[in-house]
Amino acid sequence: MFRSHTCGELRLNDAGKKVKLAGWVQKMRDFGGMTFLDLRDRYGITQLVFDMQADKDLCEKARQLGREYVIQVQGTVAERSNKNPKLPTGDIEIIVEKLQVLNASKTPPFTIEDETDGGEDLRMKYRYLDLRRGVLKRNMELRHKLGLATRKYLSEQGFIDIETPYLIKSTPEGARDFVVPSRMNRGQFYALPQSPQTFKQLLMVSGYDRYYQIVKCFRDEDLRADRQPEFTQIDCEMSFVDREDVLALFEGLLIHLFKEVKGIDLERAERMSYEDAMRLYGTDKPDIRFGMSFHELDDLAKGHGFRVFDDAGLVAGICVEGAASYSRKQLDELTEFVKKPQVGARGLVYVKYNADGSFKSSVDKFYSAEDLEAWAARMQARPGDLMLIMAGEKEATRKALGVLRLELAERLGLRKADEFKLLWIVDFPLLEWVEEEERFVALHHPFTRPRAEDLELLASDPGRVKAEAYDLTLNGNEIAGGSIRIHERALQEQMFEALGIRREEAEAKFGFLMKAFEYGAPPHGGIAFGFDRLAALMGGSESIRDFIAFPKNNHGRDVMLDAPSPIDDTQLDELGLCLKGKK
Ligand code: ASP
Repeated sequence: MFRSHTCGELRLNDAGKKVKLAGWVQKMRDFGGMTFLDLRDRYGITQLVFDMQADKDLCEKARQLGREYVIQVQGTVAERSNKNPKLPTGDIEIIVEKLQVLNASKTPPFTIEDETDGGEDLRMKYRYLDLRRGVLKRNMELRHKLGLATRKYLSEQGFIDIETPYLIKSTPEGARDFVVPSRMNRGQFYALPQSPQTFKQLLMVSGYDRYYQIVKCFRDEDLRADRQPEFTQIDCEMSFVDREDVLALFEGLLIHLFKEVKGIDLERAERMSYEDAMRLYGTDKPDIRFGMSFHELDDLAKGHGFRVFDDAGLVAGICVEGAASYSRKQLDELTEFVKKPQVGARGLVYVKYNADGSFKSSVDKFYSAEDLEAWAARMQARPGDLMLIMAGEKEATRKALGVLRLELAERLGLRKADEFKLLWIVDFPLLEWVEEEERFVALHHPFTRPRAEDLELLASDPGRVKAEAYDLTLNGNEIAGGSIRIHERALQEQMFEALGIRREEAEAKFGFLMKAFEYGAPPHGGIAFGFDRLAALMGGSESIRDFIAFPKNNHGRDVMLDAPSPIDDTQLDELGLCLKGKK
């Protein structure tokens, strides 16, 4: 027997027992005649004691050990005189009688502690050591629990887990495909799935009714911070449902996960239309843990000779409660903030509604106290509040104001770490006009169903068509997206047409799906959750990398494996990928 117990297991009532443990040397402390050693494994830390007087050789052997050596010990559990209430095993220690070194270790390049001295690059290079740290271990455990609870809920709701292939033809989710050359079909390529979208729809045609999969997806995007080229989704599809059925079932999933994994009772999700989200918060994923929604001021602010407002597509602002006392310096800081290229605003107008009822603004030259009072009424501002106003092109202004709103909430401590709010965004536009390409693209994907009442518009005014699509957001993060699908060939063809995809092209790419629709496709819809992000949010972290065992860095590289990397000429040749200039 290698070990009788793990390092997280022994308690006071085990005192007197003979035990065998194995693990890694976390730390050693010598006190004259005594050496204390913290032994670590996945389950915890147990203190070992070597007594110079009892066994000099053994104690000296212990003193030769270094950090991260792998050892096995035999000894007796004893009550500790100096208890450590922070450790579950803190009441006991092991008086060691036998020690065996199972493997030596080089000194690790960074400390294996929650607060490590290793930088990100170093930790990525030695990810197997990084993963020994308690924080990452807890993240992996949380992820595991989340997966298990997901499977339990979905299985109880009648979903079955069906695997879909990774070597496929393209699935359009708006990113580039990763491709894999086929050796047996020279010059031809598979694509890795951006999602199992078409397969899950085919499973509905096959009558499987409720499908799910916790599945890897691959998207070759320019990596923004915190995106991974391969990531995991909880992917689901169901037949004979309408939007309400899907929303109820999947908000139920989130409520179940929070209860099961975090012991938190989540409230049901709120709802907001895409249009309202953009108009009131400047984003399709507003954080609704706090207010500060936008107020539009065009009618009040224009026509007073202030050019910036007069020429603007939109004048809108937010009311910051209790912030009239902001100093010149604080206001300058905010102005600098909105002028940063990431925010992109030209400036910021402030109106202080002083506690005594007077106004002080950066546009006093153009507006009287009565004017500003009308603004205050519109913005529901009260004495003591600060009104911050932006102007410019409509969409850009909304976006910038949305960023400012979040920044202020951050500064005011309104984004509370222990508060969670779910929000469904619904009634998305079906299509989005892309200026550079001079065509419409699908806002979700081309299989999303147009709203029944807008079907007429698809040919005449496609930009106005709303989709049967929905996103689930949590505290300002998109955690899931999905839609009711098109299940008729004719409508799918019409959709491709609206997207400017030629008939032959549609046939070549998605003929298999449209053909399947001709054989009794049931009405169906579904959703997919970003599993890595969900784990990160539930773990209270912004970074999905800390919740993926072996992530890629910002350049899409695995620095531990050093991938991607060149392959040799023979392999290239075999794949029919001879580089130009070479044979
Ligand atoms: N396939 C979609 C995605 O990956 C989700 C869905 O529509 O179910 O975003």
